[in-house]
Amino acid sequence: MSSSRPQPRPGVLSISAYVPGKSGAPGAAKVFKLSSNESPLGPSPHAIAAYQAVGQHLEDYPDGAATRLREAIAGVYGLDPARIICGAGSDDLLNLIARAYLADGDEAIHSQYGFLVYPIATMGTGAKPVVAPEKDLTTDVDAILAAVTPRTKVVFLANPNNPTGTYIPFDEVKRLHRGLRPDILLVLDAAYAEYVSRNDYSTGLELVAESENVVMCRTFSKIHALAALRLGWMVGPAHVVDAVNRVRGPFNVNAPAIDAGIAAVEDAGHIELSRAHNDRWLPWLSEEIGKLGLTVTPSVANFLLIHFPGTNGHTAQAADAFLTARGLVLRSVASYGLPAALRMSVGTEEANRLVVASLAEFMAA
Ligand SMILES: *Cc1c(COP(=O)(O)O)cnc(C)c1O
Repeated sequence: MSSSRPQPRPGVLSISAYVPGKSGAPGAAKVFKLSSNESPLGPSPHAIAAYQAVGQHLEDYPDGAATRLREAIAGVYGLDPARIICGAGSDDLLNLIARAYLADGDEAIHSQYGFLVYPIATMGTGAKPVVAPEKDLTTDVDAILAAVTPRTKVVFLANPNNPTGTYIPFDEVKRLHRGLRPDILLVLDAAYAEYVSRNDYSTGLELVAESENVVMCRTFSKIHALAALRLGWMVGPAHVVDAVNRVRGPFNVNAPAIDAGIAAVEDAGHIELSRAHNDRWLPWLSEEIGKLGLTVTPSVANFLLIHFPGTNGHTAQAADAFLTARGLVLRSVASYGLPAALRMSVGTEEANRLVVASLAEFMAA
């Protein structure tokens, strides 16, 4: 059929655009943003200084290969810098992977409550996102394996997952990998890896090193608290790195992000502070919110999923309005198919105590 105006490729108009967490609370005296899982401690002071120093040289293009940043990451994680690609957020990398490996008619699997960037990146290529049901808000490896068809090209797995905060042990990730055909790319998104303190968890680096079809993506937006700069990285086998580099924009990572990223990844002390803050407040929040009669999904990340009963006006939507009026901005997860829940990022001590006090007031009303 001919058309009187340009038409986007099939799939594009089926995308529901990503709805980011709210950032404001109009009218509230003080606003606590707990909607996008950013670190309450902010970035390393060294990263801020490095960012500011780049302001003296804005006329120069960045190093398109982000060489010094890849070397810094490689040094910290014991990797080969040639196997690393940096991106404008892991978002950029997930889209580049989709562009390199998916086409019309292909399928990419993600789990039921998986990160919404996966279906968006998939549909943008004309491929079809296939949803594998979860069990108890947790990735179900058997369901992913059952969803594989001859058209499957990519499996996206956030571990831990956002917005649920749950994870699967490394044995399960390995079982998933063993069950996939060797021509299917397994994308491990370990955005929250630094926060996990479980012996049976692994980011999957070992699987990346020993396979030809596994990549791992990481972000500087969470524990490194550089979300504004848009910075992420991935590591993978040489042939995947080669393919993704071919579709990558030549200057996809900006100069302030490169310099701040180097300082951030090398500041082990600041990373430890952020992790320790989370270790203290995540269990406290789970326990205190649980005492109010609300169900909290056990989380290993830097956020919690709080479920509302829906009775006596105690809906997630009403709680969201109640908290927002007090400057507490949480995340509605209705777009993830979880209309009865709100996601809360672990905040500063002040924010955390205020949320608990406000939820107590809400539940008493
Ligand atoms: C926040 C998040 C990311 C990071 O995205 P950026 O584009 O790097 O900011 C990636 N994956 C998941 C599951 C996330 O929650």
